[in-house]
Amino acid sequence: MIAFEEERRVTSTSLENAELVLPTSRDEAVHAFGDGSGVAVLGGGTILMPELSYGRLRPKRVLLLQDAGLSGVARNGGSLTIGAMTTVAELEQGPEPLGTAARNVADHEIRAQATLGGNLCAPAGGATPRGDLQAALIALGAQVKTAGKDGERTEPIEDFLAAPDRRLVLEVEIEEPQRAGYAAAHRPHAHAYTIVAVCAAETSAGLRVGLTGAGPSGVRAHSVEDALAAGASTQEAAQKALDDAQLQDDALASAWYRQRLLPVLVRRALDDLEGGT
Ligand SMILES: Cc1cc2nc3c(=O)[nH]c(=O)nc-3n(C[C@H](O)[C@H](O)[C@H](O)COP(=O)(O)OP(=O)(O)OC[C@H]3O[C@@H](n4cnc5c(N)ncnc54)[C@H](O)[C@@H]3O)c2cc1C
Repeated sequence: MIAFEEERRVTSTSLENAELVLPTSRDEAVHAFGDGSGVAVLGGGTILMPELSYGRLRPKRVLLLQDAGLSGVARNGGSLTIGAMTTVAELEQGPEPLGTAARNVADHEIRAQATLGGNLCAPAGGATPRGDLQAALIALGAQVKTAGKDGERTEPIEDFLAAPDRRLVLEVEIEEPQRAGYAAAHRPHAHAYTIVAVCAAETSAGLRVGLTGAGPSGVRAHSVEDALAAGASTQEAAQKALDDAQLQDDALASAWYRQRLLPVLVRRALDDLEGGT
């Protein structure tokens, strides 16, 4: 009971000095975000809410994006534009390997709340990998549109993931792939965090491979792609994934285990790709 009272007290004080802003359009959201200093962006809140509630994060301004008109999927020929506030649940029927990656995030309750923007900006979890959609978006060659200090810009997802700080994600554009493959290992648990996942896709830009659980954020497996382009077998190319990975121990698995798992899953994802979408 004492702990509960203490939590309630912390909850009420940690946000009392923060300005809560609820933009009703994309332009208002961009304006309210400004250069991002002192701003915390709330997507679905599945990661951010506990940080705010327990006072571990004390922003000057909290930007609540739910009414900012940033959700939904628009199709234009063979490409799709996905708003940052589109939920993970809405992506479950999206193009592969994004649809499968979305279906493997947590449970339905979380997927219905969690957003694409939040998944792209998910800080490294420490105890578990987070940002499972990143590998699928890397494989699909996603372009990320953001706003921030220098205005709006669109860049490849790998560049965005290398420096995601202080940018407001607006939308992501992907191309429908000609072929896609997916392979993953999960812990058998209701919330089903992914230990390692591999996404492969072939678009007009060529074949790309993305990894989850092989670094602090999603990783592009350039070495695998290069080996395949040079004529290596899927088995030989799969081993190259270790050159791109930064494997670490966490609550789900050791780096040692991931080192053995990763080439196996890369090979399975490439074999899945050969089998068609
Ligand atoms: C029980 C449980 C299980 C989970 N399992 C998984 C899992 O299997 N796989 C997985 O990937 N994740 C998992 N997560 C983590 C999380 O739910 C997801 O990563 C989710 O997609 C985060 O989205 P969100 O909208 O809730 O993010 P939020 O909590 O709203 O935000 C997360 C971070 O992104 C920032 N942010 C949000 N939207 C934007 C934007 N548009 N522009 C800029 N910054 C933004 C926030 O400021 C914050 O730093 C789990 C979480 C829980 C609680």
